[in-house]
Amino acid sequence: MEILTSEIVLYGGINQIGGNKILIKDSEESLFFDFGVSYEDRRKFFAEYLKPRSSKGIGDYLFFNLIPNLPYLYRDDLISPTGHEQGESDIKGVFITHPHMDHFGYIPFIREDVPIFASELTIKIIESYETISKGGIESEFCSLKKRPYGFNIHHSQWEECSREFNTWDKYNGTIKVDFFDLDHSVWGAGGYIIEASDMNIVYTGDLRQHGVRGYLTKQSLKKLEERDIDILIIEGTNVGNETEEDFLKNLIEELMGKTLEEKINSEQILKEKALRIVQETNNPVFIDFSLRDFDRLKTFYDVAKNSGRKLVIPLKLAQHIYDLSDDMGIKLEDNNLRIYQEPKKMGSFRRSEYSKWERDFLNFPNVVKFDEVKDNLDKFIMVMDYFRLGNLIDLKPSNGIYIHSETEPFNEEQAIDFKRHLQWIKFFNLDYHYLHTSGHMSEEEIFRTIESLSPKYIIPIHTKGIEKFRNKFKNIILPKMGESIQLKDIKDKVDRPIKKDLYSFF
Ligand SMILES: [Zn+2]
Ligand SMILES: [Zn+2]
Repeated sequence: MEILTSEIVLYGGINQIGGNKILIKDSEESLFFDFGVSYEDRRKFFAEYLKPRSSKGIGDYLFFNLIPNLPYLYRDDLISPTGHEQGESDIKGVFITHPHMDHFGYIPFIREDVPIFASELTIKIIESYETISKGGIESEFCSLKKRPYGFNIHHSQWEECSREFNTWDKYNGTIKVDFFDLDHSVWGAGGYIIEASDMNIVYTGDLRQHGVRGYLTKQSLKKLEERDIDILIIEGTNVGNETEEDFLKNLIEELMGKTLEEKINSEQILKEKALRIVQETNNPVFIDFSLRDFDRLKTFYDVAKNSGRKLVIPLKLAQHIYDLSDDMGIKLEDNNLRIYQEPKKMGSFRRSEYSKWERDFLNFPNVVKFDEVKDNLDKFIMVMDYFRLGNLIDLKPSNGIYIHSETEPFNEEQAIDFKRHLQWIKFFNLDYHYLHTSGHMSEEEIFRTIESLSPKYIIPIHTKGIEKFRNKFKNIILPKMGESIQLKDIKDKVDRPIKKDLYSFF
């Protein structure tokens, strides 16, 4: 009888936050779990105006190893300018844990005949995200246009096709895959239990248990405790991140002259604090949060409602509310919401100047334009994220409040953006409040989770805190980029000395 061996290969998320791409191979089929963008690697070579060249398909991404060197996995049209051979892929599916770009962002490159699997909510959110995206190769998640490289064909005549997105339970291959729900800073999140021929693998994706949906994580972990887990692939965003936390704290103290209060560890406390701040003022209130964190949206919706104000939202958020209205329990025409119609080029509000998806919302009864907002700032809570800060120049708020409810900076560039963000708030003399709760478990919770699941081996992913994992546990595996991990030789890989090159693919 043939001896079956399964393999795990990591193509991202090693010693960095995000970019997870995990290949699990069995004798008959291979599956990917997450296919995200590694912003850390991408930033090494590219920036806002130095982009991978679309004229080369996905050639530039392959050249810098930003995506796995598996040419058959990619769309024929996008691989054609690279000189690689084209052909069918042996990958039978790509499973996504949740709709954050560092987990699903490179799906547009995958062949359209490779099915994508995810939870129902994750699929809805990705579809909604595609609607508001700018277009171009990187935002072709569900529908795509085949690039006829080498032919002089106008883009209006490019062949259109769609990619299959299925709920995870539609997959029926020889590898058994099960999904479990989790709480995270975006809806639809979960992890996978993968029963390959000779090992059981649990992959957590990103998780926390202190959010509105914390009970999902607690229930799922309880059930997982009964399983025999050979390999646990677990995230560790908050493991060993004290430097980042201190950096944020110092930056806010230095620039805004504010001492940060103790950490907020529940959405309910965040809501109470925000409500108190808003109720104590008659002045303008601006807020910033991640537009796809719908728990946070509901928090600020409630804060606005309970303080007698209207929540002013940008058109992009209007699209998300429209698409997920049933799940949110909020209707876009809700009287507590105002949809802000920003002027377009030449300061005009002409319909034809808006994108097709934006035009759908311009006739809603609760659309507001600049004048109405400016004259009634004290009656609103206005979403004013980083990319919309320019509006402050026209609104000129006096004695306003700014509630910053966004994720913490993790790298140099994010830190520079964060600092710039604070400079704006400071310039307009807005009273600054940093109210945020992490999308991830604390270090202590991660370690406790590992202990209660007691897997044979642990692969930490999506973390900078490998050393901390190693100090705490004996059975840590640290795969190299693209290296095959098999159960039969795994013992040799445990606790091996860390070499610098272990984390780097250069
Ligand atoms: Zn992530
Ligand atoms: Zn995430």
